[in-house]
Amino acid sequence: MKTTQQHLDKFNANLIEVKNKLGLTGWKIPPARIRSISPAIAHVAMLNGDQLAKVSLGRHGSEDELSDEGLMDSATHEMLHLMLNDFAKVVTAKVLAQNTVILAGGDDPDDPVVFLAARSAMAVAECQVDAEEHRIINRLMSWKK
Ligand SMILES: [Zn+2]
Repeated sequence: MKTTQQHLDKFNANLIEVKNKLGLTGWKIPPARIRSISPAIAHVAMLNGDQLAKVSLGRHGSEDELSDEGLMDSATHEMLHLMLNDFAKVVTAKVLAQNTVILAGGDDPDDPVVFLAARSAMAVAECQVDAEEHRIINRLMSWKK
C-alpha cells in the first residue's frame, strides 16, 4: 500500500502529540517526509548534537502499518528513540570501551590495529545497544496496549 499525504499528515500530528506527552521539549522535529526506508515504516535521525530529529515515513507500508493505530505506533516508537537517546549514548560508550579493550588488547590510538578494532567495536556496540533499545521500546509499546 502506498503512503499518501493523508497518512503523512496523521503521522505528523501523532509525532507532535507523543513528543508533547513525553515532554521532549528540547528537540526540534521538523514535519516528517516520505522517503524510501524499506523495510522500516518509519525512521528517526538525531542531528546537530541531538537538538534536531528528522523523522521519515516509508513510501510503502502494510494496511496495518498505515492504519490510524499503526501510524500512532510508529510515531510513538520513533519518539521513544528520542527519549532513550541520552541513555543509549552512555551505554554505547561503556560497551564500546569494553569491546575495544577486548578486541585490540591495547589502547594506543595510533596503532592501526587498535584504530580498526575501535571502529569495529563501535559498530558492534551500536548494534548491541540498538537491539536492547528496541527490546525496551517494544516492551513499552506492548504495555501501552
Ligand atoms: Zn526503532
